[in-house]
Amino acid sequence: MDNLQVEHALDWMAKTNEKIQDNKEYLTTLDQAIGDGDHGINMARGFGEVMKKLNGEAYQHAADVMKDAAMTLMSKVGGAAGPLYGTAFLKLSMTFKGTDVDYATFSKGIEDALNGVKQRGKAEIGEKTLVDVWSAVANALRENEGFDSEVILQSAKSGMEGSKDIKATKGRAAYLGDRSIGHLDPGSVSSFYLFESLAEVINE
Ligand code: ADP
Ligand code: MG
Ligand code: MG
Repeated sequence: MDNLQVEHALDWMAKTNEKIQDNKEYLTTLDQAIGDGDHGINMARGFGEVMKKLNGEAYQHAADVMKDAAMTLMSKVGGAAGPLYGTAFLKLSMTFKGTDVDYATFSKGIEDALNGVKQRGKAEIGEKTLVDVWSAVANALRENEGFDSEVILQSAKSGMEGSKDIKATKGRAAYLGDRSIGHLDPGSVSSFYLFESLAEVINE
């Protein structure tokens, strides 16, 4: 893959939706341990709505796919994850707009999305949130050249696994303090599915 085209963007969202639907209960179980037990429900509903929206439109540019995904997640998902994922996709759409989404543009988009999420959630790296996965992927993209599925998959995985043994200091899990240690962060797991899906799109 040289550029992220419309069909890649659509495929990326469709694969993410499949993983979210397949793992809805798992995400909920993770959120029951350190949150309020709705992350699977929130994400499954949100991505279900995203697919409805995307399937009903004809797109000319990947930026427009990202924009509709963003708007749908922001309006349909309650809880922290909706606005956070919405912000991430909106930043991607802004960075992609009016240009071919080559590797440099894509990499910048992920960086901009990361910064948007950090700002929106007032979160930094190491606070046991999905920021940990997005920053791991952004770093890996910056250090590499060209779409490489293994680089994306492994960085997302290390970010997700790294969320387990640290204490939450943002979001609902922060109320648990030290008792949040030893549990995977639900949002980091859903972000892992997003990047795992991207790796699959690159491999096709
Ligand atoms: P809620 O916590 O409102 O029920 P969800 O359960 O859908 O929302 O999403 C929880 C996830 O959102 C967490 O696992 C974490 O990754 C992410 N999150 C929560 N608060 C923040 C924040 N302030 N900054 C970044 N990410 C956050
Ligand atoms: Mg929750
Ligand atoms: Mg909630």
